[in-house]
Amino acid sequence: MSRKIAWIVLILMYQTICLSGQTPHKTLVLRCGSLFDGRGDSLRKNAFVVIEGEKIKEVASNAPAGAEIVDLSSETCLPGLMDTHTHILLQGDITAEDYDEQLLKQSAEYRTILATVNARRALEYGFTSIRDLETEGAGYADADVKKAINNGVIPGPRMQVATRALDVTGAYPLQGYAPAVVVPHGVQVVDGAENARQAVREQISQGADWIKVYSDRSYRVREDGVLDDIPTFTLDELKAIVDEAHRERHKVASHAMALQGVHNSVQAGVDSIEHGNYIADEDLKTMASRGIYYVPTIFVGEYVAQGRAAEGAPVWVKMIQIHEDTFRRAMKAGVKIAFGTDAGGFDWKVNPAKEFSSMVKFGMTPVQALRSATSTAAELMGMKDSLGTLEAGKLADIVAVPGDPMSDVSVMERVDFVMKGGVVEKRKP
Ligand SMILES: [Zn+2]
Repeated sequence: MSRKIAWIVLILMYQTICLSGQTPHKTLVLRCGSLFDGRGDSLRKNAFVVIEGEKIKEVASNAPAGAEIVDLSSETCLPGLMDTHTHILLQGDITAEDYDEQLLKQSAEYRTILATVNARRALEYGFTSIRDLETEGAGYADADVKKAINNGVIPGPRMQVATRALDVTGAYPLQGYAPAVVVPHGVQVVDGAENARQAVREQISQGADWIKVYSDRSYRVREDGVLDDIPTFTLDELKAIVDEAHRERHKVASHAMALQGVHNSVQAGVDSIEHGNYIADEDLKTMASRGIYYVPTIFVGEYVAQGRAAEGAPVWVKMIQIHEDTFRRAMKAGVKIAFGTDAGGFDWKVNPAKEFSSMVKFGMTPVQALRSATSTAAELMGMKDSLGTLEAGKLADIVAVPGDPMSDVSVMERVDFVMKGGVVEKRKP
């Protein structure tokens, strides 16, 4: 009998060891020279972040005795960065030719292989979470990259994905081919409210966390300086998309760069406005009162402007000034601004953290820019209970930079330590 009990005890012990995984909950301490916790306005000096398993146990002034310490005493620690607008399946598309070539000459499988490299790059730049806003013709590959990351197959950030995005007939590349030539599209093409609802249902069933819509196209500057556009969806179509997504507890991100696209999106009740180069004051007011986020993606506009102007669209150069004016009005109106870069719209070899400097150039303080990529981004992604600040109980997503981002925000382009969920993903040699 006692032998039987001994066996049961042994089996139970074995199971406990197996279930707890290969890394038992050990305590790790980051010794940070300075720390931005994502809540206050200033840096805390000489802070110790105590990590147990995947979570932060406490932020203390001393290290607990006997704990393993990672020395970051010459660094500034911050919450893991969050980029709320990326395209890991895209390798830069300054010109239409860049874009068409990727869709015409690369298989979805090859593009997915490149995407896994981009996911790793994002993590190494310090982005421990991203909201990837559509695959640009690569189907549902983003949902698989996310799965591979979550299963520990490849390194990468936490991902929310939008799968295929939606646009109407004749509005999105590839365009300009002979009628008899069947070309792929960078989106799921839908017309009519009922078809749009069906597409939302399909995308959600295939793993979309967000529904992405393209709400406008074809930009021009009016004589009064307003950036005008052609709205893609009718208001009825947009409302159907938003209603269907919300009914299924999903949110809608709307690419809207100018007057009418933004206005329709706000009227339809989307959850975030992407790019928003021009937003009318009345729409900014509605965004502030309804809590609709503004994801300005400034850097990419500067990055593609000259190339697109050379291709015959000089409006892209004029848009930069209009964008700055809108950004400043949005801050004044109290609109929530979340950090997003459109990485993939520019080459992933370029560090998306350049957006911090762009935001500061357009009028944010460094601490406002940092918050947009931490606490505000976490709120936008519905993850503020577990991410966005460094405090007890949150997931240990932590980065460190060799300098003071409050005095020079471009130091965010030099992240040399990355931890995701308590696991060290990058450390300066
Ligand atoms: Zn984009």
